[in-house]
Amino acid sequence: TKSNGGGAYRFFASEMNDQILKRRGLEADMRRGLDADEFFLLYQPRYDARSMRIRSVEALVRWRHPERGLVGPAEFIPLAEETGLIAALGVHVLRLACRQAIEWPGIGVSVNVSPVQFRGSDFVATVSEALSVTGLAPARLELELTEGVLLEDTERAGLILNSLKARGIQLSMDDFGTGYSSLGYLKRFPFDAIKIDRSFIADLHAVGESRAIVQAILGLGRALGISVTAEGVETAEQLTLLRLDGCDEVQGFHMAHPSKAEDIPRLCAMAEAA
Ligand code: C2E
Ligand code: CA
Ligand code: CA
Ligand code: CA
Repeated sequence: TKSNGGGAYRFFASEMNDQILKRRGLEADMRRGLDADEFFLLYQPRYDARSMRIRSVEALVRWRHPERGLVGPAEFIPLAEETGLIAALGVHVLRLACRQAIEWPGIGVSVNVSPVQFRGSDFVATVSEALSVTGLAPARLELELTEGVLLEDTERAGLILNSLKARGIQLSMDDFGTGYSSLGYLKRFPFDAIKIDRSFIADLHAVGESRAIVQAILGLGRALGISVTAEGVETAEQLTLLRLDGCDEVQGFHMAHPSKAEDIPRLCAMAEAA
């Protein structure tokens, strides 16, 4: 009946309103959180696969929310990208990571870059500024980029990457193997490293397709003179196979979880002593 239809419509409309309100609420909350300094970084060690010493750490953002507790990036990065807040968040993350790395001589730091942040008008300036403000040597900063960074305007992306590279900053291709054009991009852009996506590591066994794929990627890295990192290493078996096959770097829960900044010196010392 007519009244039912109207009721359903009003219900639907109010559900949509709820979603919009929720999103606006989260957006305002994120702005507030940025002002209140609630976003901070955990650092996950990346180990040299031969010496098993820590070469660098990957910065992973977290939100210490006053009511919701610790919130992970999956819950706010997409919205930050939609609303443009990723720019402010990205600047904050870059500065925190560079400032922190100054306290850890001898190791590098890598920072994840959102495609939206990368495409912003002044990405190279943002990165240069974070380096000059903190005094971190450019060679100690690595930017982890996904294929999404390169998808839209590849010509412009190339200019930006070359300009970062010319400043001595390291570039790595994250989540390697999950996209459509990773191989073409390796040929075209000046990457120093690739990070094999953890989906290939998750079911890595002595015999099987994942091992064949991982070995092929390692061969590719060797042929191109590009360092290869395996991420998501969770078991001793995976680590053994990766070392056997000549992987350059390993990262994952089996060695170390994303950790508080204050724990990094101890993790470095443990790796040195082992
Ligand atoms: P990612 O760059 O691929 O980062 C690796 C993710 O895998 C991290 O999740 C890390 O905690 C998790 N991880 C590490 N070792 C293991 C393992 O052995 N097993 C499993 N199952 N997972 C492991 P996290 O911190 O939740 O980050 C998720 C994603 O959010 C990241 O994926 C990255 O794309 C994005 N992200 C994190 N921090 C930032 C940031 O500061 N800026 C931007 N733009 N994106 C970020
Ligand atoms: Ca990453
Ligand atoms: Ca990754
Ligand atoms: Ca990922």
